[in-house]
Amino acid sequence: MSITAYIGLGSNVGDKKGNCCKAYERLKLSGRCVKMSSFYCTEPVGYREQEPFINAVVQLETDLSPDVLLATCNSIEEELGRSREIRWGPRSIDLDILLYGEHVVESQELTIPHRSLPVRRFVLVPLSEIAPSVVHPVLKKTAAHLLHELKDTHGVTKCDS
Ligand code: ATP
Ligand code: CA
Ligand code: CA
Repeated sequence: MSITAYIGLGSNVGDKKGNCCKAYERLKLSGRCVKMSSFYCTEPVGYREQEPFINAVVQLETDLSPDVLLATCNSIEEELGRSREIRWGPRSIDLDILLYGEHVVESQELTIPHRSLPVRRFVLVPLSEIAPSVVHPVLKKTAAHLLHELKDTHGVTKCDS
């Protein structure tokens, strides 16, 4: 049975939108009914001395297990030239599994729902655009509800064109 998964995309190196589009094309090969949010321009969080990010969220129906989906995301990152030097630092592409149906996964490599989903405006804004009613299976709250509860003023704006 296929599962509806949500993947967060982020890029702040090179052709940021181009990198997200390439990742989207590759994700399409591993799922069906794939849909992507608008692009959002966002201030970096964590390690702040770096370029602003482009963020988006992709929804896909997939038959891949969570582990295989993570491996797929990692190989797309590698293919698009991601190097891992600084945690939360600059990257050509970052793919995070945000939700995998209503499954809860807790292993050494993988935590689903993504640990930071409830506190990241740059993820909740695009997620709420394409799936406002999707439910966080642990918190039992929708994406729109989680976004509404955020108190921060972190800059997240829809990119032009
Ligand atoms: P953050 O996870 O806070 O957004 P990051 O994306 O910069 O930080 P990475 O260096 O891309 O962190 O990933 C670190 C590790 O996180 C990966 O090797 C992966 O095994 C693990 N991980 C745990 N849960 C997830 C998830 N839901 N999606 C993707 N990676 C995950
Ligand atoms: Ca991330
Ligand atoms: Ca990641």
